[in-house]
Amino acid sequence: MALLASTSDLAEDDAVLIDGAREYARAELIPLDRKWDQDDSSVIDILDALGEMGFLGLCVPSELDGLGCSCTTYAAITHELSYASPSVAVTISVHSMVGRVLKRYAAEPLRSDLLREWGNPGSLAAFAISEAGSGSDAGSAKTAAVEVDGGFRLTGEKMWITNGLAARWLLVLARLAGGDNDGRLCAFLVDGRESGIERTPIHGKMGIRGSETAVIHFDETFVPSTNLIGDRGDGLAVCLSALNEGRIGIAAQASGIAEACLDEMVRYAGQRYQFGRPIGRFQAVANMIADSATELEASKLLIRRAAHRIDNGLEARSASAMAKLHASESANRIAYRAVQVHGGSGYVHECRVEQLYRDARVTTIYEGTSEIQRIVIGRGLKNAS
Ligand SMILES: Cc1cc2nc3c(=O)[nH]c(=O)nc-3n(C[C@H](O)[C@H](O)[C@H](O)COP(=O)(O)OP(=O)(O)OC[C@H]3O[C@@H](n4cnc5c(N)ncnc54)[C@H](O)[C@@H]3O)c2cc1C
Repeated sequence: MALLASTSDLAEDDAVLIDGAREYARAELIPLDRKWDQDDSSVIDILDALGEMGFLGLCVPSELDGLGCSCTTYAAITHELSYASPSVAVTISVHSMVGRVLKRYAAEPLRSDLLREWGNPGSLAAFAISEAGSGSDAGSAKTAAVEVDGGFRLTGEKMWITNGLAARWLLVLARLAGGDNDGRLCAFLVDGRESGIERTPIHGKMGIRGSETAVIHFDETFVPSTNLIGDRGDGLAVCLSALNEGRIGIAAQASGIAEACLDEMVRYAGQRYQFGRPIGRFQAVANMIADSATELEASKLLIRRAAHRIDNGLEARSASAMAKLHASESANRIAYRAVQVHGGSGYVHECRVEQLYRDARVTTIYEGTSEIQRIVIGRGLKNAS
């Protein structure tokens, strides 16, 4: 099947990167991803290898030692990684999202100092906005930030944090408590080595079990003033703007899962015989494959459109939400069909589509549920009218 980005539209270097990601992912990551799923262990084992190949610096400008990928190329690489390991894809996607926040909002010299190191596994980042009581309504975060001499002290608890155990840098949404700006939300870059941070793993996830997920508790954790990202009161806007590109990453994660499901379906339908012929010759089975291929192609086009808008400096909130909504919902439908085409064989751990079916499920939930994407798209239409 075609890549997410048509290589003829890309610079030669980008096409080489995407092809390299594809080859590496298909050769190396599929067995590892199966193992992480079975053991509930984590991609952090191969973080050094991912760093060496440049995957942790995808969106860092080349003058700061990154690969300087466009959003289009980034999405295509995420798709290829996700085809083999949705857990690796989301680990890199979240790390990249925090990197883009720093690129856009951090002040110098913090910005250059951090981004120059962003490709190193020791700089792994997490994006921490959700709390037990604050999910879709991210603006209701209760984690408190008290201004002190030279910075802030954060107290509260973040929930569901991807990369939350290993991350050195934590982008945290917190609410100022006391002073002139009482109640205003801010984004802070917390150094994970500070005291007053307790991380607890969340085990037993349905899917993407190779991706680390954690609860992070802050107890008067110090953050220097230089690590306030954006102004006081800008915290929600900073975090939500990051999600425009983040959602393209999750859409590409979903399309990678969908493409893996489609390939598995086509292969199985050609080799499984019933009633004296391959099941792919039965129209009902062929229809499942045709519907899946069509929905996948539509996802790819929506992802490319959203990424193209980002690359050209155009407003992309609605386009990203549409890409995520369609790619994630259709990935679930395609994964469902992949299990159906496999019959009983698709219902056991040994079969990869059983895992992909579980992995697809989270894509309609994190970085904004499908219901929230529809709200974003609806608001865009009202603004246009
Ligand atoms: C594996 C995993 C990894 C995650 N990683 C991160 C991370 O790295 N960082 C982070 O900050 N968060 C992370 N999250 C959290 C994730 O973003 C939230 O789970 C998500 O935003 C939904 O919030 P919630 O779970 O509190 O559900 P709720 O907001 O309580 O929603 C429950 C249901 O109500 C619906 N609903 C809520 N509000 C509305 C509305 N206004 N209109 C219509 N329907 C509505 C939702 O769509 C959903 O169906 C992760 C979650 C998971 C499962």
